[in-house]
Amino acid sequence: MNSTLVTFPSGLTSGRSTIVEAVPAGERHGLVVSETPFHPLDHTWPDQPADRGTIGGLPVVDCVTGARSGTGEIFLGPDIPARRGAEGWDWLVVHMTGTPLPVGAEVDLEVDAGYRAGLCAGHTGCHLAALALNAALADRWRKEARPDSLGRPDFDQAAITSSRINPYGSVDVYRLGKSLRKKGFSAEDLDPGKLARQVNDQLAAWVAADAPVRVEAPDRGLTARRTWHCTLPEGEASIPCGGTHVGRTGELAGIVAELSLDDATLTMRTGRAG
Ligand SMILES: [Zn+2]
Repeated sequence: MNSTLVTFPSGLTSGRSTIVEAVPAGERHGLVVSETPFHPLDHTWPDQPADRGTIGGLPVVDCVTGARSGTGEIFLGPDIPARRGAEGWDWLVVHMTGTPLPVGAEVDLEVDAGYRAGLCAGHTGCHLAALALNAALADRWRKEARPDSLGRPDFDQAAITSSRINPYGSVDVYRLGKSLRKKGFSAEDLDPGKLARQVNDQLAAWVAADAPVRVEAPDRGLTARRTWHCTLPEGEASIPCGGTHVGRTGELAGIVAELSLDDATLTMRTGRAG
């Protein structure tokens, strides 16, 4: 047996493959194929929701990550006792259905392309907003911090506690606590309104640049260490990423970020204006 091969990193939303495993999952049936266009929820960093669509004509009611141990035991989603991509495991895309399909059957896989398009826009916007936030906060670092791919102190990586992608939007939560202060970041007199204006000016410039976006993958396995790339006027931006993206930043026309500060928690929401 092997890990599931995935075609979503290159933007595919349909395919045809063979069912290689049926995993019991309570009332549901977890179907595994050898190759799929479906993006499952990641169990380690669950930022982008699972794709919707059909397998063999049946609705995919959920799509989760599965992991098969060396002894053949399969764990699903939060029950997986290993980190994403850990050695010694097979990593599976598990399509959940209400009705079983036989192992060995050849099936069509169709992802809901409209829903996927929204998640692609939300995910690319999330990465661009994070880079714009890093730039807007760059002068608040009193010590040398690990830089992002554009050379700014990487506030996003240093402070993020959760990231959630939704259709055409995202919600990132950052912790401005003692550990960040020890790393040299000052949150003194942080004005979320002013910060949002800086982030939005940068986002508008990057949308206007219509920069190309791509996902690089070392291999086709589900947990391959893929990287998001965007060729911005400032340079080549890159962020490790397991999700899906638009082809150009121009597709994000109208994206707006909102920032709010509550105690030591900074929240950045992105979405379409109006
Ligand atoms: Zn990502």
